[in-house]
Amino acid sequence: MDYDFIVAGGGLVGSSIAYGLARQKCRVAVLDGGDRSFRASRGNFGLVWVQGKGWDYAPYARWTGEAADLWPEFAQTLCNETGTGIDYQRSGGMHFCLDEQEWGSRVQEMETIRQHTGGSFEYEMLDHDQLKKQIPQISDAVLGASYSPRDGHVNPLYLLQALQQGMNCHGVKYFPNQNIDKIEAKQGGFFAHASQGIVAAGAIILCAGLGNRRLGEMLDMDIPVLVDRGQIMITERLQPFLDLPTLHVRQTAEGTVQIGDSHEDVGLDDGTSPSVLQKIAHRAVTMFPFLARVKLVRAWGALRVLTPDHKPIYQQSKTCPGAFTVTCHSGVTLAAMHAGPVARWIAGNQDAELIRQFGIDRFNVSQN
Ligand SMILES: Cc1cc2nc3c(=O)[nH]c(=O)nc-3n(C[C@H](O)[C@H](O)[C@H](O)COP(=O)(O)OP(=O)(O)OC[C@H]3O[C@@H](n4cnc5c(N)ncnc54)[C@H](O)[C@@H]3O)c2cc1C
Repeated sequence: MDYDFIVAGGGLVGSSIAYGLARQKCRVAVLDGGDRSFRASRGNFGLVWVQGKGWDYAPYARWTGEAADLWPEFAQTLCNETGTGIDYQRSGGMHFCLDEQEWGSRVQEMETIRQHTGGSFEYEMLDHDQLKKQIPQISDAVLGASYSPRDGHVNPLYLLQALQQGMNCHGVKYFPNQNIDKIEAKQGGFFAHASQGIVAAGAIILCAGLGNRRLGEMLDMDIPVLVDRGQIMITERLQPFLDLPTLHVRQTAEGTVQIGDSHEDVGLDDGTSPSVLQKIAHRAVTMFPFLARVKLVRAWGALRVLTPDHKPIYQQSKTCPGAFTVTCHSGVTLAAMHAGPVARWIAGNQDAELIRQFGIDRFNVSQN
């Protein structure tokens, strides 16, 4: 076999895993789709986000927290190896609450996460006056915010670029425009039939985002993948006014302001719609009234890769050992985890205890 691993899909998930495997000296080929693919990795909001995650599933609260803690070293290593800056900042992050009901449920969720993590998740609830001292432009309509110092943000496009450069530094062979049509498990390995030929390896990891359901079927794996559209808009460059990200509004290192967080079930339509853009713009202006006077320069839609409980799936096939899948939302936040512990687990070099909490069996699908 020419390679130890084929990674199917070269988005943030596949690239993080491939980079992590190559750093362990594995021989890796990444087969990625073409420009017409759905690519959450090129349309996301760029948060490295802990707060709010895992209140309904303790292992996920711990997993996300550990990912965020690995991020500073991961970012530093990636930048040192590639010379590419990714605008990562662990500045803390905020979630604004607009009414008492939101505030009440936020307090409950944050406290539950704190308990799930044995107290290691730090957060504060800030009332309006405390918030106003930190962010003078905030409107009186904002009741308060949850704040966690563990949150941060990154430029997700620079991140993807740096991961691809990192893969290159460590000898990963990246094949663009290579949509895999067929996978055969034979002769103790896996043969991926792609647009321009066949690539063989001892193991394969399905990281094709929304393509994972179809690829899984080829290996007798029933991977439940759901889709959810998010729309984002971006403004002209502004003077710095927000030195930490919030769930709905974040100012990038260049000064532009990203406005987002919509959720729609519209199937495989990654376009935009005026009604949703209007709604997220209205929410942003409610939080920061001066935004009503700034120019928007661009808007886009992108499709989230979700599982039924919105938590990641890390699974090796039971009937076809050597075939793995990593299917998840929050691929920015989890990038450090995927390049580190998950890549080590796949290579057989890491205790898999917490990873087992994210197996596919939890959905009771017919799995092997
Ligand atoms: C609007 C929005 C906002 C988001 N905000 C955040 C955020 O703030 N923080 C965060 O952590 N996460 C966020 N996410 C989620 C994050 O973007 C995704 O979890 C992550 O990008 C998923 O990466 P992926 O590599 O699995 O999928 P993708 O980026 O979709 O990549 C899949 C790749 O697989 C390839 N492929 C598909 N089929 C095949 C095939 N048959 N053969 C070969 N290759 C194939 C495609 O070409 C593509 O390159 C957001 C997502 C969206 C949509």
